[in-house]
Amino acid sequence: MPMLDEAQVEKVYRRLAKAMPGRTRDAKGPKGQPDAFRSCISCMLSAQSLDRNTAKAADALFALATTPADMLALTDGQVARAIKPCGLYNMKARNIRRFCEALLGEHGGIVPDTREGLLGLPGIGRKCADIVLSFTFGKDVIAVDTHVHRVCNRIGLTEAKSADRTAQQLEERSPDWALRDGHFWLIQFGKRVCTARTPKCAMCPVSDLCEYYAAMARD
Ligand code: SF4
Repeated sequence: MPMLDEAQVEKVYRRLAKAMPGRTRDAKGPKGQPDAFRSCISCMLSAQSLDRNTAKAADALFALATTPADMLALTDGQVARAIKPCGLYNMKARNIRRFCEALLGEHGGIVPDTREGLLGLPGIGRKCADIVLSFTFGKDVIAVDTHVHRVCNRIGLTEAKSADRTAQQLEERSPDWALRDGHFWLIQFGKRVCTARTPKCAMCPVSDLCEYYAAMARD
């Protein structure tokens, strides 16, 4: 499907900004974690896991350790047992070890606040990096999760097969003023209106601009 032009992209954001609450005071770091280290680990745990299972795993793990050094004092078996609820626990336990080693070895145990720095750490991909940048460090970055990816490619803000590519295109195509709250408008819109299975097109504020809607009308 074709992508919207610059003026249309601007219109979409203006309408979403009006219809959705955006970044609210209670918008917490990934899964509500209080610092960048726990945000990164929590994000790693969330891969292919439901929120409630990620929360269970994170609570059990952070009851054992909350710093890279303390985490490295645990065995992989201890970590794997604690994070079992979130699945892929052996692989995630190994990634957590590699992440903590790199964080201590290359950054003195301090999580870097740049995308390049975060992406250089084992286990941290574009989605985790952008979520940590946006939520924990308060940077103007549109993090792309499954909702944002779906919504952007339905409307025509982007035309991308992967969430990472959507993130790149959004960064290139979004007006600067929309970068701070864009993630929140898009995710709220994806949960309330442009839902995965049955989007509520009849009540959608951007249906006249939406490429997916236009394609359905043509069929
Ligand atoms: S018209 Fe439908 S598919 Fe398009 S953005 Fe709105 S809810 Fe989503």
